[in-house]
Amino acid sequence: MTSQTEIIRFLEQFAPLHLAEDWDNVGLLIGRQNKSVKRILTCLTVTPDSVTEAIQQKCDLIVSHHPIPFRPLKKLTDRDTVGQMVLSLIEGSISVFSPHTAFDSAKLGINQQWAEGLQLQTIRPLVPQVPGEENGNGAGRMGELRQPVMLSELVRSTKSLLSIKNLQIVGDQSKMVKKIAIACGAAGSFLENVKQHSCDVFILGETNFHTCLEAQAQGIQLILPGHFASERFAVEHLASILANEFGDVDVWPSVKEHDPLTWV
Ligand SMILES: [Zn+2]
Repeated sequence: MTSQTEIIRFLEQFAPLHLAEDWDNVGLLIGRQNKSVKRILTCLTVTPDSVTEAIQQKCDLIVSHHPIPFRPLKKLTDRDTVGQMVLSLIEGSISVFSPHTAFDSAKLGINQQWAEGLQLQTIRPLVPQVPGEENGNGAGRMGELRQPVMLSELVRSTKSLLSIKNLQIVGDQSKMVKKIAIACGAAGSFLENVKQHSCDVFILGETNFHTCLEAQAQGIQLILPGHFASERFAVEHLASILANEFGDVDVWPSVKEHDPLTWV
């Protein structure tokens, strides 16, 4: 019998919650602290689809990258989508744990996995957790390719790593690039750091039009695979890490979860 406390202890070692940004809410967000867990669903976001799956599949715990609730609630009714989902989870005795920005920034977190997947060398945080100190934790990652390649080659390896057919770029596909910055999710606010470190390319989940224009003006190439693709692979990987650690618990990444955007 595995207790939720043991699972949470493991998750907090993997992605220490003090690494989360100040504005974030992370950790156990819904549910009683003490209970036993037999089935865990991982997902990027708690949505009506993933809630339905968790209930149908008799999950005890959802490990969702994005927090729910995210904004403070003043009422909890079924008049809005978040209220409906939270009530259904409570009625189904399903807990929710969200590591969010702690998972982004952890030593072996999403951005590190992404940088290693692209075989960057001398990988280090784009914004170290403690300025001037290299402890492996921090927001985003940067590193160098073994040798310069055309941007089109990096586009190809990003698509292959994230198993996607389409993405967006800002810049010139024939440009030679070597120094790469990476940040998952909505990460346009790191453009200034990317510029300070003179990176050739910034690969990020998504950003707004004006950040794209600013990158173009600064001569920084952007690769934008989409918010979903930039993070979903890591919750799939997290499911196998949890399954390895807790042999008597069934763990799987949500099969109903999908990108709300259709890339045509
Ligand atoms: Zn995200």
